[in-house]
Amino acid sequence: MALLETVEHAVKGPIWDCRMCGQCVLHSTGMTCPMTCPKTLRNGPCGGVREDGNCEVVPTMRCVWLKAYDRKERLPLLPSWRRHFDDLRPPVDNRLKGTSSWRNLVTGRDRETPDGWPDAAPHVAEV
Ligand code: SF4
Repeated sequence: MALLETVEHAVKGPIWDCRMCGQCVLHSTGMTCPMTCPKTLRNGPCGGVREDGNCEVVPTMRCVWLKAYDRKERLPLLPSWRRHFDDLRPPVDNRLKGTSSWRNLVTGRDRETPDGWPDAAPHVAEV
């Protein structure tokens, strides 16, 4: 792992359980990493959320997207970050796994989308 990746993981791993997807969307998910969802869903919960709000795959874990919504409401986020919660986020590009989202933000690589996909969701740099 390169130096930047090592530093990013050392910072974001303990705080957000970062999985180093390389396309960070924390700003739009109430500072909740969607890659910690067992299905790695980046646009909201699946249909399997249990009545108690826990995950259908890991019954002892609260649904990542319910946590994200609660945090979006509760944390002192920038208003535009709160609005970005409803963005349609593009599919995750697994080719970026393990790379630094910080580098990909600066280079714009994290905003490249698959052919046929509409413009990428507004990015943190555009808030
Ligand atoms: S870089 Fe990806 S895996 Fe890491 S916190 Fe951001 S969204 Fe989650």
